[in-house]
Amino acid sequence: MTLAGDTDFDLVVVGCGGAGLSAAVTYIETAGDEARVAVLERATREDRGGSTRWTMAGLRVDSNFVLDPQWVGRVQEVSKNLADLEFCLAFEREIPNTGEFLRSHGVEVMFREAMQEGMPRTGSPNGGGLAIVDALARYVDEAPNAAIFYETEAIRLSVSDEGRVDGVVVRGPDGLLRTLHAPAVVLACGGFEGNYEMLTQYCGRNAVDLRVLAPGTQFNKGDGIRMATEIGAATSGQFDGMHAELVDIRTDRADAVLNGHNFAIAVNGDAARFYDEGAKNLADSFELIAYEVWKNQDQQAFFIVDEAAMSHQLVSARFDTDIPPAKADNIRDLAAQLGLDPDALEQTVNDFNAACAGNEDREYDPTRLDGKATTGIEPPKSNWANPISHPPYYGFPVAAAICFTYGGLKTDTSARVVSKGGVPIPNLYAAGELVGLFYHEYPAATSVLKALTFGRLAGAHAAAEAHANALA
Ligand SMILES: Cc1cc2nc3c(=O)[nH]c(=O)nc-3n(C[C@H](O)[C@H](O)[C@H](O)COP(=O)(O)OP(=O)(O)OC[C@H]3O[C@@H](n4cnc5c(N)ncnc54)[C@H](O)[C@@H]3O)c2cc1C
Repeated sequence: MTLAGDTDFDLVVVGCGGAGLSAAVTYIETAGDEARVAVLERATREDRGGSTRWTMAGLRVDSNFVLDPQWVGRVQEVSKNLADLEFCLAFEREIPNTGEFLRSHGVEVMFREAMQEGMPRTGSPNGGGLAIVDALARYVDEAPNAAIFYETEAIRLSVSDEGRVDGVVVRGPDGLLRTLHAPAVVLACGGFEGNYEMLTQYCGRNAVDLRVLAPGTQFNKGDGIRMATEIGAATSGQFDGMHAELVDIRTDRADAVLNGHNFAIAVNGDAARFYDEGAKNLADSFELIAYEVWKNQDQQAFFIVDEAAMSHQLVSARFDTDIPPAKADNIRDLAAQLGLDPDALEQTVNDFNAACAGNEDREYDPTRLDGKATTGIEPPKSNWANPISHPPYYGFPVAAAICFTYGGLKTDTSARVVSKGGVPIPNLYAAGELVGLFYHEYPAATSVLKALTFGRLAGAHAAAEAHANALA
């Protein structure tokens, strides 16, 4: 199907990631095979799928597809009760249905035990997020009146005089504008992680220094948030907040995350420690240390670790990268390889090792917060503090890469975009990253679930409305 001129559809979905495809598929499943559905994708077919395409898609669920029971409370705690509780509870209730939705589309989810005590159990699709994109896009491709329009970007919403959203103005590969008319529009085109202008505006200084976690994030330029706020939509989530992760700066590999801080010391460009690397388990700290490196350490950090730590399989797995690390038999040579001042790094390691004295009786245990802490040093290392004294020594240079932004649109529990006055804007839905929820921290492994779950709810509600309107 090609877009020749202005065209009529039953539903227009902006975005071809997990949220948009879930909305399109659910609409067709609910309204029937004949439904006329357009899915807009800014990227080419090869690059379709946004961030969803690139994630291994850790899902914070157990093998019954039940959300980690701590999650809602954790979101409330870290957000200081700013996060929408009703939305979180609706999300939790609906997640088992999302599991069924994935199963019914042939996406197999593998489950595993928690990596560390206190961390949630997770599942992830066999084939990662790409398996989700491929399965759902295939369903859209096979529906007789539905199509994904590639290299076609949504520019603005079309709104009737009385305020109903009735279509989307798009720009196609020929550069021309067209209006796709539809009685329902789902915005599912990601946050503004791919828009350095908006990142600077909302997240502040040096946003340009942030790396991108994967190629798919670059297509998400905040368009859905802009288009909806232009017509009076309310917002939610922290606009200067983001989920970032530390990546190996030497590789071009997507998702080159290095999560070794718990079992290393992390030093900045002055070879000084700046963070309690052992304060929290991985799930509760990998985002915070990345944000710190970007915001306050000039995007420069290095993990320093020794052979004794690396001999634990659980530890070495956290330093998984395709480029061999800097390696030396003494700290001064390691510093030279990393471009750090040898005197400064040697002093930092000596100070750290001295601060480990007295904790020898405590067992070192990477599977839990082991309480093996430093004393008399700032910042402390609250767990897993072993001296760095067994050569060879290893060094990994890391910097923060942005995954997604927290700020977005406010929706109700049926994924309807609400106005600043608190009423649903007729015919407008939103799902996925561009719906704002998080403040201060992102209790992880729920972004894909959120995209799929509220995408489904948007598609189902839009189809039910169409049915009710047809009867009327
Ligand atoms: C490397 C990586 C690892 C991750 N790991 C996890 C994880 O383990 N667990 C987890 O829960 N989350 C994870 N995430 C986050 C998660 O993948 C995303 O938050 C989620 O997939 C977002 O889904 P979405 O549908 O909202 O957006 P996307 O999947 O990004 O889809 C947005 C789509 O909109 C399109 N688009 C944008 N603007 C326009 C426009 N104007 N017109 C038309 N199309 C447009 C884009 O091209 C894209 O196709 C990870 C992300 C990355 C990048």
